[in-house]
Amino acid sequence: MALIVHKYGGTSMGSTERIRNVAKRVAKWARAGHLMVVVPSAMSGETNRLLGLAKEVSPEKTTADSMRELDMIAATGEQVSVGLLSLALQAEGLQAVSYAGWQVPIVTDSAYTKARIERIDDARVRADLAAGKVVIITGFQGIDGDGRVTTLGRGGSDTSAVAVAAAMKAAECLIYTDVDGVYTTDPRIVPEARRLSTVSFEEMLEMASLGSKVLQIRSVEFAGKYRVKLRVLSSFTPWDIDLAEEAASGTLITFEDDEKMEQAVVSGIAFNRDEGKISVLGVPDKPGIAYQILGQVADANIDVDVIVQNVSHDGRTDFSFTVHRNDYARTMDLLKQKIVPALGAKDVTGDPKICKVSIVGIGMKSHVGIAAKMFRTLAEEGINIQMITTSEIKTSVVIDEKYMELAVRALHRAFDLEAPPVA
Ligand code: ADP
Ligand code: ASP
Ligand code: MG
Repeated sequence: MALIVHKYGGTSMGSTERIRNVAKRVAKWARAGHLMVVVPSAMSGETNRLLGLAKEVSPEKTTADSMRELDMIAATGEQVSVGLLSLALQAEGLQAVSYAGWQVPIVTDSAYTKARIERIDDARVRADLAAGKVVIITGFQGIDGDGRVTTLGRGGSDTSAVAVAAAMKAAECLIYTDVDGVYTTDPRIVPEARRLSTVSFEEMLEMASLGSKVLQIRSVEFAGKYRVKLRVLSSFTPWDIDLAEEAASGTLITFEDDEKMEQAVVSGIAFNRDEGKISVLGVPDKPGIAYQILGQVADANIDVDVIVQNVSHDGRTDFSFTVHRNDYARTMDLLKQKIVPALGAKDVTGDPKICKVSIVGIGMKSHVGIAAKMFRTLAEEGINIQMITTSEIKTSVVIDEKYMELAVRALHRAFDLEAPPVA
């Protein structure tokens, strides 16, 4: 008998029929003797609908006060899901109880719309499990030190599930979704993408941070920090398939170095179209410039991603960086109103229609020429590279958004990631 956490995403919870299916699957695991904690997302489209309502009422939503209300609104989606799933489990003849984040509680910081989990008190959940109940906990939400509802950022239910699994020392956390595992790239963009039966934690961390939405980055970070056994698998297999077969399906995130993986120089391609590029032009080139620009951006709680500073001419330089598209307008305002005048820079320009495409692979540590091959592939497609950033196991480029799919497909082909042809 093991303590198992299941997470079901929005599509998997997308209708009452699907919720009944989830309940049947969970019931199968519970009847096999496992202690079950289930973390569902809001029904698909619901978070977007809720945030859309907020936008209708208040298109400007950049203050801390308004972001707090966004969380109040968005968190309701998951509350509906847990109640429905609990009812469906009860209809299956199981004892089940649902909790919102604040009831557990899942305590977070106060960074509304992108809060971080600080602590989970599992006493209540353990008592319910001991009493023979299936426990269902809202994904995506928590409560801060002031007793206010917070949310963990889009895709945050993954993080809720892994954090609960870590706090409770669960034997495994299974992330059920609408694809049957982690692929070499998003199978919606490249139909030839291949499912990986295992992926190393390091690679998964890079892929998630570079835009592969199959797992939220923080969920992978939690899994790494607390060594949570993590698997991504499909919720669309028949609910009554053999449990052992189901438990071995999908993609396992591994922590050991796998020799086979070392051989695949590039394991996957990630992309992200959620960023915008901002350039501060004609900045006086003297010490402290990067700090003066990015320090104030960071103080406004805006994350900066790719950063490039050009060679200076006549004592002035251009400084470019990318931010999340949601923060783009706010960053531009901050620069125009405060930073640029204070610095004596000439101008600030921006382009919200860019995207970042990345190749990821542990094998890049020990192979040379991989980045060059990436640049050549893009050049052959006539795609201009605007920014480049590298680390030990990834190379990312910023390009015009309109070339994103072309770039991903060309790179997928160039690095031989396609499924081997069926014999
Ligand atoms: P859920 O609602 O279950 O959390 P998400 O939409 O957040 O589901 O994540 C699953 C989606 O992630 C898939 O439908 C797929 O389009 C996308 N995706 C992006 N990159 C990958 C990848 N490398 N492997 C698998 N899926 C990916
Ligand atoms: N419902 C939230 C979202 O749509 C959280 C999640 O699905 O993981 O982002
Ligand atoms: Mg998701």
